[in-house]
Amino acid sequence: MTDAGRCPECGARRCAELFHALLALDHSRARPWGPLHGVSVACFLLQHPGRLPGDGGAVARAFLRAYLEGGLPAVEELVGRARRANAHRVPGGPARTVEPAPAPPTGGFAVTVEHVAVDGTFPAAGFPERVRAWAAATLEAWAGHGG
Ligand SMILES: [Zn+2]
Repeated sequence: MTDAGRCPECGARRCAELFHALLALDHSRARPWGPLHGVSVACFLLQHPGRLPGDGGAVARAFLRAYLEGGLPAVEELVGRARRANAHRVPGGPARTVEPAPAPPTGGFAVTVEHVAVDGTFPAAGFPERVRAWAAATLEAWAGHGG
């Protein structure tokens, strides 16, 4: 094992592979992974700015802030609101709240998918706490980057 396999964006090793393993757990809908799917995806996207949608990660950051501030109930509330908004989407009308998109950070994340995976299996014990740390580290890097 060398550091040659480190991801240029998040700095973790085998991050894509780990993320796919996490998605498989998410899609099983089992706890604790399933309910945290949106938060996990938001963390991963924000640590890979090249994959962010056109909103510059505004929605993903809102997800992480909701989780850090209000836990899963706040996230579920946000998802519900997004669903309702999509159901009434005006053609050609993007989100009303336009947040200025900060420049994405390049690396420097204190916590990555590699830490959340632990041994590569994303153990259930402590998973929500690790996702919380992942979310906090992700937002911190974005904030520290002048966001
Ligand atoms: Zn990566």
